[in-house]
Amino acid sequence: MNAPLTISEIQNFKGKYPKQLWYLFFSEMWERFSFYGMRGMLVIFMVSQLNMNGQVANLQYGATQAFVYAFTFIGGMFADKILGYRKSLFWGGLLMIVGSIVLAVNPTQFFFIGISFTIIGTGFFKPNISTIVGILYADDDNRRDAGFSLFYAGVNLGAFIGGYLCIAVANGSILSDLVPIALRWNVAFGFASVVMVISLLTFVQTQKSLGLIGISPLLSLEPNKRKTYEVLTYIGSVAIIPLIILMVSNSEYTNYFMYTIGPFSLVYLFYEMRNFSLAENKKLIAALVFILFSIVFWAFFEQSGGSLSLFAANNLEKHILGVPLDPNGVNNSANSLFVISFAALLGLVWIWLNKRGIEPNTLVKFGLGFLFLAGGFYVFYYTKFFADANGMTPLGFFTFGWFIITFGELCLSPIGMSIMTKLSPNKLQAVMMGMWFLASAYGQYFAGILGANIAEASENSSNLEKLIIYADGYKQLSIYALISGVLLIAISPFVRKLMQEVK
Ligand code: GLN
Repeated sequence: MNAPLTISEIQNFKGKYPKQLWYLFFSEMWERFSFYGMRGMLVIFMVSQLNMNGQVANLQYGATQAFVYAFTFIGGMFADKILGYRKSLFWGGLLMIVGSIVLAVNPTQFFFIGISFTIIGTGFFKPNISTIVGILYADDDNRRDAGFSLFYAGVNLGAFIGGYLCIAVANGSILSDLVPIALRWNVAFGFASVVMVISLLTFVQTQKSLGLIGISPLLSLEPNKRKTYEVLTYIGSVAIIPLIILMVSNSEYTNYFMYTIGPFSLVYLFYEMRNFSLAENKKLIAALVFILFSIVFWAFFEQSGGSLSLFAANNLEKHILGVPLDPNGVNNSANSLFVISFAALLGLVWIWLNKRGIEPNTLVKFGLGFLFLAGGFYVFYYTKFFADANGMTPLGFFTFGWFIITFGELCLSPIGMSIMTKLSPNKLQAVMMGMWFLASAYGQYFAGILGANIAEASENSSNLEKLIIYADGYKQLSIYALISGVLLIAISPFVRKLMQEVK
């Protein structure tokens, strides 16, 4: 048997991308198919099958998504300290499979049980696969951003197919001849479980190529002790599920959880900081600035699965230029299609600017991200001027809003993951990646609250009134996004000092 590849052997790869990146690309693609497929159905499922009103469904949605991303912080922590990235990923994938099967069997009855398995599973899977991508590159390797961009294309390829397919099957827009009405939701959730199995098999089949990356951090312990810690982690993560069910199904508990996990993560980070030099700690503070701003970004962006899915269901026409399309499917997947189509192009723009010495630094890119976000929400607002008397407005113009927002996301999300791996010392990689996603948790949480306010204001209104209320809500978000972008660009010189040599 050959000795496993060392990390530096892997990092010394030739060409643009390491081959391991492709394997991770496919595992993540299938995982995101499953994740976004499920997620794109949640609000519509809660409203149409669980008879919740729009406000409750939005809060519930925000809670599930907040928990998903909050557990990435915990999953990152356990990976760094106990399981290593690879076992974490495998365990997370397994729990996601269980969750999606439970939902496929009986989504109405087992809704919160299935969702809770998925929450813990994603917590172990998502941050750690992203951290492994970072480890494929040596510290000073400038191919890293390109690697994260490719990986992000994989994320969105999965999100695109899953986001459209699952809800379209559930709504009966496609495969309606094959799938009996009574089984539509089961089949749609079933898709999510099948592709999650493919994701996990892809990882298992290819993980040998990762050599020494992501193996146990506890190799210095005697094997029995190590096993005990690992088994306790597995048992603990399943034992906590009843608590998650309770918290997710009750948005008041979600509030308490969100009030606690953020401060806890900060205290933990400050505690860890005592082990690092001043220069390293300055970088961690800079990472926190990125994390804080990303909360605002996601709170707006993540209207996608919440209020925007109700907006799509109520107010969008069911075609673009005569081609029949499911508006919810479009709302779930247009953004991903644009990411896949334009990620490489934007990468080339950065390289072109770099050659001329005028590539904006990461902070300015983040600021631009907000300006695009503002533009996109302004388009959502503007849809009201094209509406007919029933409050129906063109799907094509709405999709244009996602086109603009996508450029904002590309200025922020893949670059954000990459900058986390650059600004964190080795021993804190997964925790910092977890904190990056924890910011998404807060984003989701606030997104749920914002969406619920919009939905509440429009309860019992006519379709046209609904359109106007939603559109005006999006105008507010557009203004706040603009302010955030300007603020970020204004403080960029100070944060750059903290980042030192990192660009
Ligand atoms: N769409 C991206 C993904 O799923 C980013 C999600 C997030 O950080 N909120 O990876």
